[in-house]
Amino acid sequence: MSDHLEDYRPIVGSQVIDELLLLADRVRHRRLQHINSTSVGGGVAEILTRMVPLLRDLGIDTTWDVIKGNQDFFAVTKAFHNALHGGEEHITEEMFQVFRDTTAMNLADLNTYGDVVIVHDPQPAGLIAKKRDVGGRWIWRCHIDVSTPDPRVWGFLQDHVAQYDASIFSMPDFAQQLAIPQYMVPPSIDPLGDKNRDIPDAEVRAVVERYGMDPERPILTQISRFDRLKDPLGVMQAYRLVRRRHDCQLLLAGGGATDDPEGEEVLREVREAAGDDPDIHILELPPFSDLDINALVRGSTVVMQKSLKEGFGLTVTEALWKRKPVIGGAVGGIRSQLLNGVTGFLVHSPEGAANRAVELLGNPKLRDALGDAGHDHVKENFLTTRHIRDYLLLMLAMEHGDMDLSLLTARPA
Ligand code: UDP
Repeated sequence: MSDHLEDYRPIVGSQVIDELLLLADRVRHRRLQHINSTSVGGGVAEILTRMVPLLRDLGIDTTWDVIKGNQDFFAVTKAFHNALHGGEEHITEEMFQVFRDTTAMNLADLNTYGDVVIVHDPQPAGLIAKKRDVGGRWIWRCHIDVSTPDPRVWGFLQDHVAQYDASIFSMPDFAQQLAIPQYMVPPSIDPLGDKNRDIPDAEVRAVVERYGMDPERPILTQISRFDRLKDPLGVMQAYRLVRRRHDCQLLLAGGGATDDPEGEEVLREVREAAGDDPDIHILELPPFSDLDINALVRGSTVVMQKSLKEGFGLTVTEALWKRKPVIGGAVGGIRSQLLNGVTGFLVHSPEGAANRAVELLGNPKLRDALGDAGHDHVKENFLTTRHIRDYLLLMLAMEHGDMDLSLLTARPA
């Protein structure tokens, strides 16, 4: 784990680091504040944990604050999350009121002080009401796929979003009709973090054995929060189809996120569906299991991320970086990571996932080819250094409204 940008030079090359140093010079000592809804669990917390120290190392005065909310609030925002992803949810007027009340509480409790404030996802979006008092440039950073949202929830959210100076989406497909500028900034992983750094094979083997699996037999793995949209039951169905044609073990590992109250129920469903199959391993991982997750992915033969809806899918990025063949649902950001047949396989059903898994289990050369191409794709596009560059450029762009952004990864709508 490193908090020093210089340590990334051997991985990403000198040109990338030098460019970051140059850019940082232009916005040094500015205050950048990130605000989201959880410090643990899920992709946003994952990104901020690693990015905040590196931005500080570059001389940007970066802070990260988390809003408060009770169980009711997070049940509401989870329902909003599902509805924004296009799911069927029963949304009531009381739910909007819970959101407003929690927003009011956080408006009173949470200090905002950034020259640039980046507010992540819908949960804290209402904090924009502070801009009137504290000033600064405010950016709403959307990590989820809102391309086919429930119109009522999106309409409610849009009233807040419209007040921001700009918005960021992870993929062009997620862009919305908005009066404010929209930029495209994909997420990233940290190659030196415990989740992704190289670890010796012996350590990988030891972790696989410690969790009760046989390192000599193939392992199909999905690492994800236990969330219906991640389709753990579909993965299990695929595994059962694979087992008719190829020996393998199934690993479903995940932990909760403090802003996701549905996890326990889904975990129960998954355990029930697994029955007494000794080759299905369901792990509930505590927070900060990064090294174990790293080893479990490295010890896997094939990684799945069979999401039915997905923001970006950092688990895919993490597996590709480890040169693993990945089978993913053809949704959201997974499509920009898995170039079908080149850096992985996209599937639309448990049957499709099973067919690809059988193909991969029988063909080590194909596994290696996809894994190597996947690693290069991540190195080029989805490492934290690229993400930091985009944020620095955005900070500059916010200060100089007339900057030509066509040169940047970030693009105005
Ligand atoms: N993750 C984790 N522990 C778990 C499950 C997931 O640390 O038990 C991590 C995973 O490695 C990834 C992130 O949480 O870094 C999940 O991000 P992703 O974009 O895949 O999905 P999200 O949970 O944000 O929908």
